[in-house]
Amino acid sequence: MQDFFDNRISENIPNQFIKEFPGGIELFIKREDLLHPEVSGNKFRKLKYNLVAARDQKFDTLLTFGGAHSNHIAATAAAGKLFGFNTIGIIRGEELASVSKEKWSPTLKYAASCGMKFEFVSREEYRNKDSEEFLKKLKHRFKEFYLVPEGGTNKLAIKGCEEILTESDKKFDFICSSVGTGGTLAGLITSSETHQKVLGFSALNSDYLRNEISSLVGKNNWELILNYHFGGYAKVNVQLIEFMNNFSKKYNIILDPVYTGKLVFGIFDLIKNGFFPENTRIMVIHTGGLQGIDGMNQLLKKKHLPQINY
Ligand SMILES: *Cc1c(COP(=O)(O)O)cnc(C)c1O
Repeated sequence: MQDFFDNRISENIPNQFIKEFPGGIELFIKREDLLHPEVSGNKFRKLKYNLVAARDQKFDTLLTFGGAHSNHIAATAAAGKLFGFNTIGIIRGEELASVSKEKWSPTLKYAASCGMKFEFVSREEYRNKDSEEFLKKLKHRFKEFYLVPEGGTNKLAIKGCEEILTESDKKFDFICSSVGTGGTLAGLITSSETHQKVLGFSALNSDYLRNEISSLVGKNNWELILNYHFGGYAKVNVQLIEFMNNFSKKYNIILDPVYTGKLVFGIFDLIKNGFFPENTRIMVIHTGGLQGIDGMNQLLKKKHLPQINY
């Protein structure tokens, strides 16, 4: 199984040059979104060593957590199908239990088509999902399983994300990535050079993430940027969608509305405002997440807002 991951990684992830900026500023996009069509981007990196551990420990079931549009749920379901694990998704929102399957989000429909079984829980239960008590309940109900935490973030996930940066990336001054739980950023920080600065663009309005990331890394060559979350995961505006559509038309790189669209929007804005010195070399990690576009487009249609083209 590890060979499968290593082979896909070594099949070369292109760095795409974005020719746009004056002052010698160079921007490259690391196309991690191309790692795998279904286990995409950072979720591929985060699952790698977890799946190897699950197989080594002879588990046949993976259990994990997420919302109805979660990239992590989609990736875990796909990986389960690929490697022959049963998958169980503990999904936030008990109201979904009484919704007919036709009305599920595209993400849940996709995960179900991969064989994932769902357990819908209330928001309160979901908040307490890391408690001993909840875990006991899960063990009683589902017996043996390998637990992958929400968003896939744990030690093994960070280890996987440490492999994103390669030898040739040492020439970059800044490494930029989107942040949800912070696991991906922690991996990038850990494997970065001390002369590099790692910028995390938070998809959530959460100051708390700073402490979370600090507790995961032993370095301080990083910064969390909280100006480009647009209000949170499911929140977008027309300006952002138009930016994403222009960007994909011009560079043939599709961005997702939850993470990478906001990330690249933020970087363009920072460049415009003189945040980066002249002749800076910036690397942006495209962490994937394109499976979320269908769900977002349904929402945008309801609100009579423009669609994300892809
Ligand atoms: C999950 C996800 C993230 C956030 O990763 P964390 O390790 O949780 O911070 C960023 N980008 C995309 C596309 C994702 O799917």
